[in-house]
Amino acid sequence: MPGVVTDQMDRPLRDLRISLTDRCNFRCGYCMPKALFGANHAFMPRAALLTFEEIARIAGVFTALGVRKLRLTGGEPLIRRDIDVLVGMLARVPDIEDISLTTNASLLTLDKARALKQAGLNRITVSLDGMDDATFQAMNDVGFPVAKVLEGIDNAEQAGLAPIKINMVVQRGVNDHDIVAMAEHFRGTPHIVRFIEYMDVGNSNGWRLDEVVPSREVVERISAHWPIEPAAPNYRGEVAARYRYTDGGGEIGMISSVTQPFCGDCSRARLSAEGKLFTCLFASAGHEVRDRMRAGDSDAALYDYLAGIWTRRADRYSELRTHETKPIDTRKIEMSYIGG
Ligand code: SAM
Ligand code: SF4
Ligand code: SF4
Repeated sequence: MPGVVTDQMDRPLRDLRISLTDRCNFRCGYCMPKALFGANHAFMPRAALLTFEEIARIAGVFTALGVRKLRLTGGEPLIRRDIDVLVGMLARVPDIEDISLTTNASLLTLDKARALKQAGLNRITVSLDGMDDATFQAMNDVGFPVAKVLEGIDNAEQAGLAPIKINMVVQRGVNDHDIVAMAEHFRGTPHIVRFIEYMDVGNSNGWRLDEVVPSREVVERISAHWPIEPAAPNYRGEVAARYRYTDGGGEIGMISSVTQPFCGDCSRARLSAEGKLFTCLFASAGHEVRDRMRAGDSDAALYDYLAGIWTRRADRYSELRTHETKPIDTRKIEMSYIGG
């Protein structure tokens, strides 16, 4: 198979996010609101999901295109049974340098964390939208307590997965009162809280620009308590802008997908749990990969197909949306489907 590829804007393909399931045990209003993901919602049937063998095989083909980093996500990836077995299979794929996982930590027992670490998981990101229990329970809409997520974070730390990244989606009037408490809780630990601007992913969360708290404001609110200064990115295309406390209290990050979009450096593709490839989080259609594998395509044929998709790619939704300052009216795929 020939070598690595770049797209229409000269962006390489480095990072593949793999959704393991569209199911989740939470109903975060900004992602899977109960009104749309209720008891009658039709999730993907089991047979539609990529098997572990299919995931490991396609990951290998993606390395030929340039992918070096894998992130397992969903839905809630820990719902998928024996996920540590998959991590072990991916860790054996040549040229994969980094395997990470994004989870709500509700199922992250110490045993699970240890099994993941032992199988080769390099890093973990835990989503936690605040320290205020009543607010968090209302946000996940299944009454899941903050203390249990903190327990999951401790388990990951004990298993040797620290430093842990902690994602907080900030929504004005919902949890923005909790920004400083969140920063305070993790100050002085190796963990890195990343404040995420609430995005207009999918069509179901009723997104409004006035609910977005710009990262600039988050920085101001935190620096009123503890001075912070920008830090250089770890690598080109890093999604979070880094800041460090000037007193040595550690690091935080800002993910400003709405106010300062980063499409110019976007080297990420997403594979849905049923094996469709999306070249942008805001895409309205995916490219069928699973059926080609199941129809018997060779690795070389899959490479050619995927290389063709990536070389034609010209996505830059967030940059276009920022010019419009409102959601662009296309039918988008839900984040729980495509993988966050
Ligand atoms: N269930 C796992 C979790 O919550 O960590 C993984 C999947 S979730 C879709 C991945 C990340 O996307 C989470 O950190 C979540 O907070 C974030 N997310 C979901 N909807 C979002 C939105 N509308 N705006 C910004 N971030 C969002
Ligand atoms: Fe589930 Fe994660 Fe979406 Fe919340 S953000 S509903 S935990 S997939
Ligand atoms: Fe990448 Fe699309 Fe997000 Fe831009 S909007 S950073 S192209 S995923």
